[in-house]
Amino acid sequence: MSARIGHGYDLHRLEPVAPVGAGRPFVLGGVRVPHDRGPVGHSDGDALLHAITDAILGAMGEPDIGQLFPDNDARWEGQDSELFLVEALRRMRERGLRVGNLDATVICERPKIGPAKAAIRANLARLLGCSEDRLNLKGKTHEKVDAVGEGRAIEVHVVTLLEAH
Ligand code: MG
Repeated sequence: MSARIGHGYDLHRLEPVAPVGAGRPFVLGGVRVPHDRGPVGHSDGDALLHAITDAILGAMGEPDIGQLFPDNDARWEGQDSELFLVEALRRMRERGLRVGNLDATVICERPKIGPAKAAIRANLARLLGCSEDRLNLKGKTHEKVDAVGEGRAIEVHVVTLLEAH
């Protein structure tokens, strides 16, 4: 394998944070972002880490995150999503690949991603073991339409290129 492209996508419903609702604390790319709503999910609901994990697994033609870490398995209840990414990276390195670059688009009405961007990018560089200039993160709104635009969900798209090293 010399170079492989992968795509990852994820969506999580956002609900008021517990105990008001079923939302978990809002976390994106492993970084806590203050918000009164948070993702509903079996794990910690980190949509960015899930989409990155799936993009890396997808590039290699490996089983996806839901196959490796089923949401009916009690072991992954409330799990820090870093663990899922670490497993994808282990498989990537086993094949002699590394992240060439990665481009992510986060779509949510609130919270604004801008203020957390630098911290998220730095954390992703740490997790992926690459320099920040290989990582790009874009925040967009959904123009107030549909569930995402009404603040009831967060959506993430990721494309990555894995290269031999
Ligand atoms: Mg997910």
